[in-house]
Amino acid sequence: MSNIKKLSDGVYLKIIPLKGNPLKSINIYMVKSKGYTMIVDTGFNTEEIREEMLSFIEDMGVDLSKTILFLTHLHSDHTGLATWFHKELGVKIYMGDIDYRIMSSMTDANSKRWKSVMETTHLQGLDEDNLKIEEHAGFRYRPKAEFPYVSFNPDYILRVGDFTFKGMDFSGHTPGMIGLYEESKKILFCGDHLLGDITPNITFWDFTVGDSLGMYLKNIEELRDLPIDHLYSSHRALIEDVPKRIDELKEHHNHRIDEALKTLKSKGKCTVRDIAMNMNWDMRAKDFSEFPNTQKFFAAGEAHAHLEHLRAIGKVNFEKDEDGVLWYYAL
Ligand SMILES: [Zn+2]
Repeated sequence: MSNIKKLSDGVYLKIIPLKGNPLKSINIYMVKSKGYTMIVDTGFNTEEIREEMLSFIEDMGVDLSKTILFLTHLHSDHTGLATWFHKELGVKIYMGDIDYRIMSSMTDANSKRWKSVMETTHLQGLDEDNLKIEEHAGFRYRPKAEFPYVSFNPDYILRVGDFTFKGMDFSGHTPGMIGLYEESKKILFCGDHLLGDITPNITFWDFTVGDSLGMYLKNIEELRDLPIDHLYSSHRALIEDVPKRIDELKEHHNHRIDEALKTLKSKGKCTVRDIAMNMNWDMRAKDFSEFPNTQKFFAAGEAHAHLEHLRAIGKVNFEKDEDGVLWYYAL
């Protein structure tokens, strides 16, 4: 029990390491009440994490027949072990429809969606980096088979013993991330919506999802007046002052938006890669060209999300060259 922490009445935390990943670890939460249990998210699909999860379940004396797994969003560090939970533990899985649909289209390595991830790197001007899909962390540690799920969307209600959770729309970090709010206990499980010492990654998905950064900024603002005594986020230290963290995250993105616009104004037409090269990154590498390939997917996606937000608010536009690469310019 040594590495399990009781956070508040009925809420427990185990921090599981994500070796070799810049996120370092994931906070796995367990809610236990009146014999019922809910586990929030799973960690990557690896043998090591499976063992950590099993020992969490055993140490807590969980009755698996009265246990559900809630998945906040589609990322592999949150869903990696879901197929195992279903097949080996027989646990019912709850998840939002939007992220489930995307995730289940990614279990197969040859699926259209993984091809489109590579096509997006071409649009972004990353051909010279020779990225391989096997270098994408989401690809390596994903659930490898589909599993049945119970659809759980914003405003749905979920009862676990004497906890009553309401689903919240936290789209932005992914197209359909769902948070869980317990109004009477002022508890919020927020997934990767607000994180303490690191900034949640906001990426470009595709043109049907569109302006993910705009979605994100709107949805974090809506948390400002929500009464929260306990904010349980999925990575790193827990946040004490929620409005202050919202301000910091908004400032971070506004700074990046300005940075991208400034680069476009001084350099003229730029690819997404050019913009990523000119952004300041909180990493040991000097600049984008020195990033390991796994990080290039994320950095380009992040730069692209800022460009698409600028396009949504009418500040920039793009044209496609004959190779199909996007060139952004300021208006
Ligand atoms: Zn995530």
